[in-house]
Amino acid sequence: MAQLQRIAIASSQFQQQQILLTQDQQHYLGRVLRLREGDRFIAMDGQGKWWLAQLEGNLARVLEALLVQTELPISITLMVALPKGNGFDDVVRCTTELGVAIITPIISERTLLNPSPQKLERWRRIAQEAAEQSERSFIPTILEPVSFSSIVNSQASFVTNQYICEARGNYPHLQDCVYNQGEITNDTQITIAIGPEGGWTEIEIESAIAAQFQPVSLGRRILRAVTAPIVALSIVAAQLESTNKVY
Ligand code: SAH
Repeated sequence: MAQLQRIAIASSQFQQQQILLTQDQQHYLGRVLRLREGDRFIAMDGQGKWWLAQLEGNLARVLEALLVQTELPISITLMVALPKGNGFDDVVRCTTELGVAIITPIISERTLLNPSPQKLERWRRIAQEAAEQSERSFIPTILEPVSFSSIVNSQASFVTNQYICEARGNYPHLQDCVYNQGEITNDTQITIAIGPEGGWTEIEIESAIAAQFQPVSLGRRILRAVTAPIVALSIVAAQLESTNKVY
């Protein structure tokens, strides 16, 4: 199936064995991808399902369901303090390629940016495109930006396997923590928080520890705010998918 183009289709567009294509999708398939009547493509609902589909006028016929196994074995949530400029675009794009499930944009004490609502739409579009490109079966969820203090002060954050990346201090490496965290089941989740350019404040680190976040290192060098989430996810994905450890 490697050569076939993939496009995301909302579940509501599926009607029996047909897909009702929107005008934008018709334009994209016909004009941008240059598919003709009868050509095949892959329709993905972004929620784990793929179908082989065939273009028929303004519709597409569903030919068969496809099996895709490109997801990480467990759900990874990244809480990323918003970096300056358009840096978050790269975070969304790269961590989607690496398999993130949920991204929470974080407003921390040293966050400089207050994002506009258009940004959220833009990040969701980037996540969709990156998921199509990297053959993900799920499109990551990009949540509304939220303040870090509200996360650590809410009961909801008291779950297992929460890590906060801290560039300075003598903390265990994220890879060792994931390796040692015990048995991985279908319900296991991992949450990783990454600070902004200026780093976390001491109070943020303390309140995160109180909310059961384990401070972790990503290595001995200080990574940029945009690099750190990509490195964190690479480490976790490598650990989870490594053939040396069977889950
Ligand atoms: N200006 C800060 C560094 C900020 S780097 C300082 O000088 O200390 C931005 C964020 O990336 C940090 O808050 C942290 O979450 C993460 N980060 C960068 N390098 C890291 C490392 N080596 N280990 C763990 N986290 C790191």
